[in-house]
Amino acid sequence: MLMLIMIKLAVLIPGYNEEDSVNFTLNAISKKLNEMIKKKMISRNSFIAFIDDGSSDKTWEVINKFKKNKYNNLKALKLSKNYGHQIALFAGIKEFYSQCDCSISVDADLQHDIGLFDKFIEFFKDDFEMVLAISDQKTESFFKIITANLFYKMLNFISFSKIEPNHADFRLLSKKSMEEISKHESKSIFLRGLISSLNFKKKIIKYSVKERKFGKSKYTIFKMIRLALDGITSQSTYPLRISSITGFIILLFCFISSIAVFYDYFVNQNTVPGWASTIIPIYFLGGVQIFLLGIIGEYIAKIYKEVKKNPTYSITDKIR
Ligand code: UDP
Ligand code: MG
Repeated sequence: MLMLIMIKLAVLIPGYNEEDSVNFTLNAISKKLNEMIKKKMISRNSFIAFIDDGSSDKTWEVINKFKKNKYNNLKALKLSKNYGHQIALFAGIKEFYSQCDCSISVDADLQHDIGLFDKFIEFFKDDFEMVLAISDQKTESFFKIITANLFYKMLNFISFSKIEPNHADFRLLSKKSMEEISKHESKSIFLRGLISSLNFKKKIIKYSVKERKFGKSKYTIFKMIRLALDGITSQSTYPLRISSITGFIILLFCFISSIAVFYDYFVNQNTVPGWASTIIPIYFLGGVQIFLLGIIGEYIAKIYKEVKKNPTYSITDKIR
């Protein structure tokens, strides 16, 4: 498709306590945007939009200074608390889709390769509504490779829709797809799943994740577990099914064994009072019940969060 009007690009950067990375990242991305403007790939009023996910360090101050002293095409939102990477990115999509033709989301630590921006835009010009960058995992740690591969295998086995493995949140979205995503507001949003379930023309490209230059990963093990649980519970109700099937099988097993016990007692009349046969089923059933209740609890917690009419996120400050 021939683009007569120039593309207005928004680069969305969600960040939490990234005071060490922000300057470096904003410098690199603003430079990249200027280059693309020179090559007439994107319009002059393309911009960077930073979503500060409730940082408690100096991230917000650094962004303000950068806007004043270095780069005017910078907008930012400050969320009232730390909602997590997925909601921060969702807030960016929802708040900025009306102001751009397409967006590219990147991490604030610049582990994503911004050299790919040109390619993203070329595919967008070829009418792709979503361009997803997939990590070739060459530079990732052994722990991340193993956990990510296992997670995606399992998720794709039980999921409503197929999810691209190793796709972090490095992607281009057209205005149309951003608008559609904005309608799917949820308090435990899992963008990778939502994106795979939406029927837009998609293109996949490969890249190598870089090392983090400044600061530590903001994804603690608890945040990773939270993301995995949100991924599973928003993509599938299969665990609920497993829990009811497991419950049924155990019930059946208990029923058959009680018949055997009764038969022994009344017909053979040789039952030996046994401690093991009493205590083992108690432990076993107790464990299974708690596990299954936990699964149900996960879904109930989700329903609870949705029915409470709190907003998904609140914005306390803006840089326009
Ligand atoms: N992030 C966020 N909120 C959080 C945790 C992380 O906005 O609660 C951002 C973080 O600042 C970064 C991106 O999400 O821009 C990816 O996080 P990080 O680089 O720490 O994760 P990793 O690359 O180690 O998986
Ligand atoms: Mg990172």
